[in-house]
Amino acid sequence: MSTQFVRQPNPHPATGEVRNAILANPGFGVHFTDNMISIDWTGDVEKGNGQWENPRLEAYGPIALDPSAAVFHYGQEIFEGLKAYRHEDGSVWTFRPEANAARLNQSAERLALPALPEETFVDAVRELVSTDEKWVPSGDGESLYLRPFMIATEPFLGVRPSRQARFSVIASPAGNYFGTVEPVDIWLSRTYARAGKGGTGSAKCGGNYAASLIAQMEGDAHGCSQVLFLDHERDDAIEELGGMNVFFVFKDGRVVTPELTGTILEGVTRRSIIELAKERGLQVEERRFTLDEWREGKASGELTEVFACGTAAVIAPVRRLVSNDEVIGNEDDQPGEVTMSLRQQLLDIQTGRVEDTHGWLTRLA
Ligand SMILES: *Cc1c(COP(=O)(O)O)cnc(C)c1O
Repeated sequence: MSTQFVRQPNPHPATGEVRNAILANPGFGVHFTDNMISIDWTGDVEKGNGQWENPRLEAYGPIALDPSAAVFHYGQEIFEGLKAYRHEDGSVWTFRPEANAARLNQSAERLALPALPEETFVDAVRELVSTDEKWVPSGDGESLYLRPFMIATEPFLGVRPSRQARFSVIASPAGNYFGTVEPVDIWLSRTYARAGKGGTGSAKCGGNYAASLIAQMEGDAHGCSQVLFLDHERDDAIEELGGMNVFFVFKDGRVVTPELTGTILEGVTRRSIIELAKERGLQVEERRFTLDEWREGKASGELTEVFACGTAAVIAPVRRLVSNDEVIGNEDDQPGEVTMSLRQQLLDIQTGRVEDTHGWLTRLA
């Protein structure tokens, strides 16, 4: 049985005029729909008990929490990111939500937060999107970005897993990412790591992002919009960007992406690209890939394309890797053929322009 949400929708939703003005130029993550979902949990993760209660749809707005709520002090927070796409017939769909639901629970386990039934995750997303359906843009490349998250809400300063938590979903219209596919320059952080062995690198938690911001500032100062993190402890193996996974395409048809070692976040986009690349007969290798290989591959011409991927940007071609010591890649490098066609294929599946042969789409409205 699907989750029954108590519905107290926003009594003052945005007027059509206001909404259309926002949808004409949504940007990313700055405007939010009229409503949000929340579900509260009480229990004890150490004892393995607990209960999700009071699933509700209510007006998007500030949440009141006790200043001693655990999330403010010990950072017990996890999140997800997925999108709703409007298809040509007006229907609204999302992409592999069960993968996000499963990943939320993996993150929850690592951060000592409670698991949420996967159906409840999908029900919550559907409840919000079907209610705020008018906020799903219909322009080319536009979508409604969905941000489910879970926070520790118990008012208690002792250091142990919180015995209260809240799961919420908010939604934000997102503009066109694929009108302009500008290749990005990325900064190689030599000073900072985002994850270490045994740490939280494979969990999608706010703390990882907090730790990556200083490196991003370093990158910004060098004209780079993203940061690449390495495993400095070993042989400069490539890990990932602050919020995107990375792929390397070789002239001979090999496609390499760093293996999942526990310090890398497993992207749903990454997983989907691996499947699509294999179906094309490309040889996909999930393995250790080092900075030396990148440099040498570029120098010999064997490495022809580099791209980053994640839900927000789908696939972003990488032009240059910039560090204090060197620059790998050239200023006039153009997005590669494999990069662009995988990108198009993924977008075509998500927006319903080609048949969904993998069963990756779930209808929301
Ligand atoms: C979310 C995220 C990704 C991309 O995951 P998708 O499921 O493809 O959006 C990659 N790396 C990090 C660190 C992330 O947080």
